Amino acid sequence: MTSIIITIGDELLIGQTIDTNSAWMAQQLNLLGISVTRRIAIADDKDAITIALDETVGKTDIVLITGGLGPTADDITKPVLCDYFGGKMVLNDHVLNHVKQIFSNRNRPFLELNRKQAEVPDVCTVLFNRIGTAPGMWFEKDKTIVISMPGVPFEMQAIMEDEVLPRISERLKGDAICHKTLITVGVGESFIADQLADIERSLPAHIKLAYLPSLGMVKLRLTAKGGRESELQHETDTYALRIKQRLGDIVAADKDVSMEQIIVELLTRHRLTVTFAESCTGGYLAHRLTMVPGASEVFKGSVVTYANDIKQRYLHVPESVLHTDGAVSEATVLQMATQARIMFDADISIAVSGILGPSGGTEEKPVGLVWIGLATAAHVYARKYVFRHDRIRNKELTFNAAFDLIRKELLEKYEGGENKE
Ligand code: ATP
Ligand code: MG
Repeated sequence: MTSIIITIGDELLIGQTIDTNSAWMAQQLNLLGISVTRRIAIADDKDAITIALDETVGKTDIVLITGGLGPTADDITKPVLCDYFGGKMVLNDHVLNHVKQIFSNRNRPFLELNRKQAEVPDVCTVLFNRIGTAPGMWFEKDKTIVISMPGVPFEMQAIMEDEVLPRISERLKGDAICHKTLITVGVGESFIADQLADIERSLPAHIKLAYLPSLGMVKLRLTAKGGRESELQHETDTYALRIKQRLGDIVAADKDVSMEQIIVELLTRHRLTVTFAESCTGGYLAHRLTMVPGASEVFKGSVVTYANDIKQRYLHVPESVLHTDGAVSEATVLQMATQARIMFDADISIAVSGILGPSGGTEEKPVGLVWIGLATAAHVYARKYVFRHDRIRNKELTFNAAFDLIRKELLEKYEGGENKE
């Protein structure tokens, strides 16, 4: 199956809104094994919409459209689609009641203009929008399914999840697809590809391995297609295990989760707490950890000690150390980590101090130099990193490296290094 995505909206073309809908929808289709062959962005304009439909209907299996369904004059997608598929507008009572309910829940007056939200072409299947007022619409013509949804990202996502993806999956029945994701940290994709060359060569034709790199991490995704689902599951699990054993402790997870989720899960499992003493990351480690629901089980708090005198006053970094070794040094992060752990009575603490750039580097201490310290009741140590990117990416890499240190510490001390070959 193939698919084409059309996003409608003047705001997309002037660059005011970034088209995140296309990326999200493409990921969802991809998971079902449907390839997206084109993405089109057009204005809220009758001719533009008609041309885009002419170019796609009858030429692909599924066309996903978002945007332009609001009640305002610039939102014209609905009448254009109604014309195109030869229907007429009818009032849908179910949608009307839902729209009225939304307005009364929000304590807002229901205007005549809003009645338009409940009008739908009589030639489509209405896709219920539990979050918003504009319903989605499902048309079929010339063997192409055309689906129109609101532009608001979370409304589109709700309609996709509630109505669209289940219906598409139903049509795909008999054509099973199975995915398995491994998350690796700290090494590049070419290194991994080199390590996995023979395993990759041995994969049967119906199983593919994709490398999906992001900053400091590479996701490895196995996709198996065709045949029985239970068999595919077994095959992908077997290959994933081989890959995991080959790569050892650079594999941080065997499911699609974030680094902070991995750490919260590990700490929760072992009933441990963590704290941070942050300099160059300015609270970013704490922010990322607290994005995970359940972080309160493992996180009591942390300190941001940005200036030297604050490091001295609150974390007792000796003036002599700051003077001779400097703030970005092994000795400094060792002291920061040790003191923060005691101060917060945590099981593990991480301290970071670095020069993220673009200025502030010297020959001896270049931009991108970051020291990360880790302390537990039993020991304390530090590692030196030199990142080579801009300020934002260096911060992100520091986060990854710091959380990876926690992960390795826990693996070694609490999980018996279970990932090692
Ligand atoms: P509504 O019924 O809420 O008016 P709509 O279908 O008319 O929905 P639009 O008016 O086109 O949607 O857009 C609503 C919001 O969604 C705007 O804030 C817009 O910036 C955002 N949006 C629209 N298209 C996209 C897109 N492709 N990616 C991300 N955001 C988008
Ligand atoms: Mg719009």
